Amino acid sequence: MTRASHHLWRPYTQMRTADPPLEAVRTHGSRIVLADGRELIDGIASWWTAVHGYNHPHIAEALSGQLATMPHVMFGGLTHAPAERLAARLAALLPGTLDHVFFTDSGSVAVEVALKMAVQLWLNRGVTGRTRVLAFRGGYHGDTMGAMSACDPEEGMHRRFGAYLPAQVFCDLPRRAAETDALDATLARHREELAAVIVEPLVQGAGGMLMHEPETLATVARLARRHGLPLILDEIFTGFGRTGTLFACEQAGIVPDILCLSKALTGGTLALAATVASREVFEAFLSDDPAAALMHGPTFMANPLACAAANASLDLFETEPRLAQARAIEARLREGLASLAGRPGIAGVRCLGAIGAVEFEAPPDLAGLKRRLVERGVWVRPFGRILYLTPALSVPEADLARLIEETVRAAAEAMNRA
Ligand SMILES: *Cc1c(COP(=O)(O)O)cnc(C)c1O
Repeated sequence: MTRASHHLWRPYTQMRTADPPLEAVRTHGSRIVLADGRELIDGIASWWTAVHGYNHPHIAEALSGQLATMPHVMFGGLTHAPAERLAARLAALLPGTLDHVFFTDSGSVAVEVALKMAVQLWLNRGVTGRTRVLAFRGGYHGDTMGAMSACDPEEGMHRRFGAYLPAQVFCDLPRRAAETDALDATLARHREELAAVIVEPLVQGAGGMLMHEPETLATVARLARRHGLPLILDEIFTGFGRTGTLFACEQAGIVPDILCLSKALTGGTLALAATVASREVFEAFLSDDPAAALMHGPTFMANPLACAAANASLDLFETEPRLAQARAIEARLREGLASLAGRPGIAGVRCLGAIGAVEFEAPPDLAGLKRRLVERGVWVRPFGRILYLTPALSVPEADLARLIEETVRAAAEAMNRA
């Protein structure tokens, strides 16, 4: 099978013109093996999920054990050890009173649940009319309706679907004093209709690997609090070590009211997400009124196989030096990508934890860029004006060196072609 099957509709893909997808048959370490025998070094850990590399034996063992005993059971009215254990461990790892875990099966749905939680929180307190969220330009929170409505308002998908989406309130991240004042004023102006503030801490990932300082995040948290609004942190990309700490919010010393996790939660093996609420949020749903209960419940909620994989992934954060590896990757990325900074055609180079991004001044030929990197054995997925690396935190030194070398070469070539 070298050409795309006509039965598959592919993600974010113009089916008429796109290059056919490559057929993957096997994975190991930080490598993807193709049907024709070629082996690619994965520079993006399968959309930021495979933080321990592929096929880690500890996760595989946990999965096969769970598969034999109970791959799935419904979560309405039943519970099971993998979910109980995972929720308790997440609560222990997360700061503050983020102790109440609602499991779903994708990041977008975790965001939907967070938004519904915030809206219903006000209703449960007897306050009506608070149905909008304040979100930030450059953000990305998922592809479902509510999540999409909180994505950057100028981004293609949002513009296309504008009429279909609930209208949210947007601000720039408060990197400077003027933006802080603007955010403060916007929060004051819309206070009576806002249910929450949502932000990706430290890095806006799919929006362009846009980074901000911990102080900026602390400012968002401070202003949300000043205006009495719950803060939702979307740690779907940043969670589990990607920025050098287990969770990005730790670097700003802040605790949100609601926090979303997914992507690396199961170490890149199965679909699972979590929306974690503080004690205060959770308690607003405790009532004698059945209608005050959180009105959500996915069929495959807290799938035991996925929870077993997530527990095994958390084991690996305890037994293997993932955070030290993330910080070591940051140092290598900074050093390795530095030669691109300031070159004509390059708008900037940004690194944080195991994230290294090169931004071009103009959109490069993305398909050509990707094709040349594949020819040299590297798997990446540049988008817009961004070529980036987010390898497995456990990526072997030699593979990381190749990733950086080929990224620098491809970026330099892309500028020469422009
Ligand atoms: C990927 C991502 C999502 C959406 O997750 P899906 O599992 O693709 O639905 C939401 N927020 C952030 C920050 C993400 O990176």
